Amino acid sequence: MIIHVSKKHENKVNEIAKKYDAFVLKKEDFFIIVGSSKIKEIAPEYQEFVSKLFVAETDMQLCNINYHPKREVKIGNVAIGGNNRNTIVITGPCSVESEEQIEQSAQLLLQNGLTSLRGGAFKPRTSPYTFRGMGLKGLKLLDKMRQKYGFTIVSEVRDLTHIDHIIEYSDVVQIGAKSMYDHGILNKCGKIKKPILLKRGFGTTLQEFVQTADFIMSLGNENVILCERGIRTFENKTRFTLDLCGVAFLKEHTNLPIILDPSHAMGHAYGVPDLARACVAMDIDGLLIESHPNPKVAKSDAAQQLTHNDFTEMLKTLKPVAEAVGRKIV
Ligand code: PEP
Ligand code: MN
Repeated sequence: MIIHVSKKHENKVNEIAKKYDAFVLKKEDFFIIVGSSKIKEIAPEYQEFVSKLFVAETDMQLCNINYHPKREVKIGNVAIGGNNRNTIVITGPCSVESEEQIEQSAQLLLQNGLTSLRGGAFKPRTSPYTFRGMGLKGLKLLDKMRQKYGFTIVSEVRDLTHIDHIIEYSDVVQIGAKSMYDHGILNKCGKIKKPILLKRGFGTTLQEFVQTADFIMSLGNENVILCERGIRTFENKTRFTLDLCGVAFLKEHTNLPIILDPSHAMGHAYGVPDLARACVAMDIDGLLIESHPNPKVAKSDAAQQLTHNDFTEMLKTLKPVAEAVGRKIV
């Protein structure tokens, strides 16, 4: 249940929220009270204070397209979602490894007119014996590129111990597939205003995914971007299975921008360009593609990162696909 209460009834807001065990979001001239979708109606004594009532079937509420039209999220100067027709291409290595490496990644962006650089500094890994990232030093290298070239930075938060650094040094906070259920991270992300790139866990249903978006939004941060990055199926020739049916569902039922990550889904560079074209044809708001100056020596996700040459060739082919669906690659 979502209700709107105008500012002139401000004195009633806490009482109503308490009655329904609901969250309160403060807007310029009204309040949004959001509680469980199990609540289907408002008690008669409160009805006069309610300017809008939205009742959903499930707890997909703030992100529900029937509640609110498509939402715009800004990544630096680039607006995605809403009525915008931009498809932002975010690229960079899986992990920041050295200044030389990240400078080369920056050059790739510059050569291709792109504005958003990704790179992990705190890496959640499935094996304890693999590279866990450069930590704060890595974030500072990303920040150096941000200062030098004006890029926006997308970097992943692994746990609460370093979330303040991620918030400080990145423009988009990425919540990884493995961290999607970390409520410490979700709570913190709900209380800031920076865009949150929420990756779908690989064992997460669409319902759980959208509810996680609502979790962040119910705390006050409506700048959430959904990211499909592949789910686990019986298939093991590819790393994961990119759920394009799920993307169609998200487009139809949610109001949030959608960015797709074919790199982690495929797990092998050879499939990424074809998948990226398929993603753009899905009329989506962005792509997250891993690239590396020398993927063979990459310290994480070596098999799936595109060489800079392959990335550049792929990008050229994305443009006509974007045009065909009325979008612009930025
Ligand atoms: C990543 O983006 O490098 C990453 C670890 O992604 P995911 O959380 O989707 O596995
Ligand atoms: Mn990776």
